Amino acid sequence: MKRVAILGGGPGGAFAAEQLASAGLGVILFDEKLAWEKPCGGGLTYKAYSQYPFLIENTTPKRFIRETVLAAPEAGEAILKLDDPLVIYSRLDLNRMLLERAAATGAQIEKARVTEMRRCGAGWRLRAGSAWADADFCIVATGARNPLREVGTQLTPGDAMPALGYYVEGDQARIDIQFLPQLQGYVWIFPRCGHLSVGICGKGEPASSLRKRLETFMTERGIPWKGAPFYSHLLPSLDFASWRDNRVSGEGWMAVGDAAGLVDPITGEGLYYALRSADLAARTLLCGAAEKVNHYRQLLRRDFTADLEFGSRLARRVFRGRFLLSSVPERMVQFTRRSPRFSAIMQDLFAGKQPYSSLKRRLLRNLNGSLYDIGMSLGFSRLVPARR
Ligand SMILES: Cc1cc2nc3c(=O)[nH]c(=O)nc-3n(C[C@H](O)[C@H](O)[C@H](O)COP(=O)(O)OP(=O)(O)OC[C@H]3O[C@@H](n4cnc5c(N)ncnc54)[C@H](O)[C@@H]3O)c2cc1C
Repeated sequence: MKRVAILGGGPGGAFAAEQLASAGLGVILFDEKLAWEKPCGGGLTYKAYSQYPFLIENTTPKRFIRETVLAAPEAGEAILKLDDPLVIYSRLDLNRMLLERAAATGAQIEKARVTEMRRCGAGWRLRAGSAWADADFCIVATGARNPLREVGTQLTPGDAMPALGYYVEGDQARIDIQFLPQLQGYVWIFPRCGHLSVGICGKGEPASSLRKRLETFMTERGIPWKGAPFYSHLLPSLDFASWRDNRVSGEGWMAVGDAAGLVDPITGEGLYYALRSADLAARTLLCGAAEKVNHYRQLLRRDFTADLEFGSRLARRVFRGRFLLSSVPERMVQFTRRSPRFSAIMQDLFAGKQPYSSLKRRLLRNLNGSLYDIGMSLGFSRLVPARR
C-alpha cells in the first residue's frame, strides 16, 4: 500500500487521513470545500471525547453544556442535568481543527471535488477537479449526499430523514429538546459560540412540513426566524432491514461516517460514528487484513453497528409509541422529572453510555423503583411503606 486517497474532508475523512498519515502511509485527501459550516448541531457526547480526548483538550472554541430541558406537549418540561457535559463546536471550527491535525501528520490536503472513480488494475484513477490522481486504495467520506453512486451506502428515502433549521441570535446555557405529536424526531435548540442553532429532524415527513412545524414552534417560543440564515441537509437513519446489506466496503474501498450510513437512528448522533469508523477503517488498512472488505464490516459490527441496528428497531416506538395510556415522549418527560433513577438512565443515553441492546432490561429492572420515585414525588410517601 503506497498511497491512500480520501474522498471528503469532514470529520470522517480528516480523522482517517490523520490516522493513516501518522502511521507512515502516503495520504491525499480531497474535499470540495475544505473546512465549512456543515449544517449540524455540532454536539459531541461523552462517548466521543472520552475515547478521543483531543476533542476537548485543545484551544478551538467550544461550549460545555451541563443541562438539557426535555419537553413534550401534554407533559410540560423536565430538567436533565448532564454530569458528562455535551460539547458543542461550530462545524467550521471542528472541521478546520481535524484537517489541520491531518495536515500536521503529513497528509496532503487538496481542495477539489472528486467526480469520477475508475478502477485501474488493483488501484484507482480519480478525477479531482481538472486533474487526475492515482491511488492504491480509497476511503469514501463524502457524507450523506455522496455523489459517487458506485461506493458507499445506498440510501433509500426510508433510510434517511431531512434535518433543517435556523441560526438565530441569542444565547442560553442549556440545550432544549422538544418532542412534537406524531413526529419521529424532535426539535432542538443548541447554544453555539455566539448564536443558537434551532432545528428539527423527522423521519417519514417531507422537509416542507418539518419546516412549518419548526417555524410554528419558534413563533410560539418568541424566537424570530424570518431573515435568519436557514440550513438543511440529510441525516442517514437506516431502517432495521437496511443494516444487514449496508454497503460499507468493496474491492479497494471502505466508506466511513455518513457515506456509510453510520448515524444513530434515534438521536441523530453522527460525529462520533464518523470518527470511530474512520479509526476502524484505518486500523483495517494498517493491519493489512487480507479480507479487508469483510474485516472492516466485522469490526464495525462488533464495535457499534449491531447496537445502532437494535436502535433502529426501537426508533418508531420511542417517538410514536404509547406507554401507560400516554405517548412515550410524554412519559419520558414525566418520568425524567419525577424519578432520579429514570433520570440517570436518560443521562447515560445522552452521554452515549447506555447501549440500546440493554436499555429495555435496564428500564424494566428500574421500573418498580421509578414508579416508587414518582409516587413519592407526588406526595404518596405516607401511603407507601419505606424501602430499604
Ligand atoms: C441538521 C443536522 C444536525 C446534526 N447534529 C449533530 C450533532 O449535534 N451531533 C452529532 O454527532 N451529529 C450531528 N449530525 C450528524 C453529523 O453532522 C454527521 O454525522 C457528520 O457530519 C458526518 O461526518 P462525515 O465526515 O461522515 O460527513 P460530512 O461531515 O458530511 O463531510 C463530508 C465531506 O465530503 C465533502 N464532499 C462531498 N462530496 C465530495 C466530492 N465528490 N469530492 C470532494 N469532497 C466531497 C463535503 O464537502 C464534506 O466536507 C447532524 C446532522 C444534521 C444534518
